[in-house]
Amino acid sequence: MIELKNLCAGYGGEFKIRDITAAFPSGELTVLIGPNGSGKTTLLRAAAGLLRPSSGAVLLDGLPLKSFPARRAAQKIAFLPQSRVPAQLPAERLVLHGRFPYLSCPRRYRPEDREIARRALEQTGALELATKSVASLSGGERQKVYLAMAIAQDADTVFLDEPTTYLDIHHQLELMACAGRMKEQGKAVVMVLHDLNLALRWADRVLLLQNGLLCACGAPEEMVRSGALSRAFGVRVEELSSSFGPWYGFDTLCPDSHDVP
Ligand code: ADP
Repeated sequence: MIELKNLCAGYGGEFKIRDITAAFPSGELTVLIGPNGSGKTTLLRAAAGLLRPSSGAVLLDGLPLKSFPARRAAQKIAFLPQSRVPAQLPAERLVLHGRFPYLSCPRRYRPEDREIARRALEQTGALELATKSVASLSGGERQKVYLAMAIAQDADTVFLDEPTTYLDIHHQLELMACAGRMKEQGKAVVMVLHDLNLALRWADRVLLLQNGLLCACGAPEEMVRSGALSRAFGVRVEELSSSFGPWYGFDTLCPDSHDVP
């Protein structure tokens, strides 16, 4: 399990997240939300060991993450960034890269690695893209392939930075279902989402960031009822009735509104 203890991190000596204490338990989907620039990506990168903390600590199974060799850490933590330069190689080859932490040098894929990669592509609905060059795929298709690579890595904790970007609503819901299956397999899934409805519907726990601080943390409905969401985003939130679970409507605040506590 990844734990953050009073974590501060930033760029060029300037803190962008401060004093963050949180844990990402296995079998839970944690969603990070917050206004633009509030530090969500910075937090995710620091928690995954991709950005050195300025102070505080990231613990992996109770030990400092920095004490783990890179290969061992990669068996424990997968990270899907917001965007990257598309790879000029077939999707199935890219997904196999998720198996690197389990291979010795020189790298030779075993039949089980190929089977894991095939199943990961199947899980994200990208099996038919297996032989296509990643660079030739649409944004949404690429996203599914990169997610398959993260799944093939078979890490205990999976960090996903805005994984629904480029996906249409059908594929967004499929991705959330895929994240749901990962948590059922006992993974800790941690993702940044902008779509508050997706976040509130699927998260077990929501972490709300504002100006680099963790300003609220709890179950989705608590975030709404406490007014934390309204305050952070400056919007009105209303629960709507829907047959497929809680759903919310959002509107801007009137200038003289007293809606927000
Ligand atoms: P969010 O993901 O919530 O939109 P980020 O973590 O990306 O926020 O950014 C938090 C702050 O850090 C922003 O002010 C952003 O401009 C700044 N920032 C992000 N990446 C860098 C970087 N590589 N160098 C300098 N500042 C950065």
